[in-house]
Amino acid sequence: MADIAAPAYRVIPIIPALIPGSMEGPGPFVANEKIQEGLGFPGKLVDDWHDRAIAKMGELLGKYRSLKVFMDACVHCGACSDKCHYFIGTQDPKNMPVARQDLMRSVYRRYFTLPGKLVPKLVGARDLTREVLDEWHNYFHQCSECRRCSVFCPYGIDTAEVTMAAREILDSVGYGQKYDNEIIGKVHKIGNNLGLPGPALRDTLEGLEEDVKEDTGIDVRFPLDVKGAEVLLITPSADFFAEPHIDSLIGYGKVFHASGTSWTLSSMSSEAANFGMFIGNYEQLRKVALRIRQAALELGVKRIVVGECGHAWRVAYSFWNTLTGVGDGADPDDKFAMMLQKQLDHRYKQPSHICEFTWDLIERRALSFDREANDKHTITFHDSCNVARGSRMGGYPGGQFDIPRNIIKAVANHFVEMDPSTTHEKTFCCGGGGGLLTDDLMDLRVKGALPRMEVLQQVVDQHGVNFLAVICAICKTQFSKVMPIYGFERGMVGGVHQLVSNAIRLNG
Ligand code: SF4
Ligand code: SF4
Repeated sequence: MADIAAPAYRVIPIIPALIPGSMEGPGPFVANEKIQEGLGFPGKLVDDWHDRAIAKMGELLGKYRSLKVFMDACVHCGACSDKCHYFIGTQDPKNMPVARQDLMRSVYRRYFTLPGKLVPKLVGARDLTREVLDEWHNYFHQCSECRRCSVFCPYGIDTAEVTMAAREILDSVGYGQKYDNEIIGKVHKIGNNLGLPGPALRDTLEGLEEDVKEDTGIDVRFPLDVKGAEVLLITPSADFFAEPHIDSLIGYGKVFHASGTSWTLSSMSSEAANFGMFIGNYEQLRKVALRIRQAALELGVKRIVVGECGHAWRVAYSFWNTLTGVGDGADPDDKFAMMLQKQLDHRYKQPSHICEFTWDLIERRALSFDREANDKHTITFHDSCNVARGSRMGGYPGGQFDIPRNIIKAVANHFVEMDPSTTHEKTFCCGGGGGLLTDDLMDLRVKGALPRMEVLQQVVDQHGVNFLAVICAICKTQFSKVMPIYGFERGMVGGVHQLVSNAIRLNG
């Protein structure tokens, strides 16, 4: 950390000068045999990796029509080139979204198109060599799958899907990333990313109850494994111990308490995060998600609510229905999905985001607040990329932007927006999303945070902003780590429910 410096803010935020090769290197740590084999992948790079990689690419092109369209449709117009935070921060031309896609497109052309087979040089086609494979491992782990570039592409080409496909191919030949795959293994084994076992979780929650009692004088409960509770809360495990995440967990608990809602956490399914999405592997995505279904069935809950976690909400909103049966479109041949459909209370949106849950109560005047409790804060809101571009809230377009802001304005008096070219659907990734929140990628994470830090600095200078509110566990961790490198206070970042927690009247 000591030798990682923040890049200078740009005086005029235009396309940065190129520094070819500035991010060349081995990429993130490679998963060892135990980690790889735990997920059913080859333990190390297989001897016939070339043939297997091409076969896997063929399989994915057949399975995901979008991938084939993305390989063929790009006209190299360049509209996406300066839209990636990693390109802006690193100035490496291979971090331009179009160039990142071309790492795969050039191989696709060589093996799956006639011109590429006949005249490869003329059409920019490349053999899949060991150097190319290494380049994939490096540069496809410099994409946080944030989808910002796709917002600006006239053809809607989604680099995130290309990155996911590349990572899936890498895993299939035994060349996976340590951080992501290790975490998925922990969820399968223990139930959460941290490997926190049930008894430790129970202790943590009991300690939290004591802390809140000491603070407020009120018995706010943080229940675990309560059969027959109305709500099952699925939240990122960082909420159980990390700062500032835990303050949002306290906020959720206070909302449930103040509204008289019976709720529970689950020791078997104590993780909202689903890194199966980051590695582009739908089997892993489903396996992680099925723990949630099992917990919901065993506990007999009526509603499933998801805590503050960006990609987890994308998975819940976009994929849980077909993966687990939570939400519309459950597979009628999946008997457990059907059991869950019968069990859940469909007067409520399934699943709901905790912000939807809280905002619904606020709209129905079921909660009351002392907004002055947040007067020490001048707040701005960072839209997390997976919420902004991969989901909705409130059942209408743009609800994912309005609802968190509505909550902030209901619980605090001082709120300002950042530059609109960097918020809502155009928001920048925090720099640590997409399975890159690991210390071996710290240089990339610091550089990738540059565009968000630049506009944060503007509202700090112009409006005295001193609180950056977010609804994503990864954003909270990433910002807490990189903001001090940019000269901000570490404690400036926090959750929307941290603000709720400050202001809510528990006996209102
Ligand atoms: S990090 Fe985001 S903007 Fe950059 S290439 Fe990946 S999806 Fe596109
Ligand atoms: S904006 Fe779309 S079509 Fe244009 S270069 Fe980027 S990916 Fe290709």
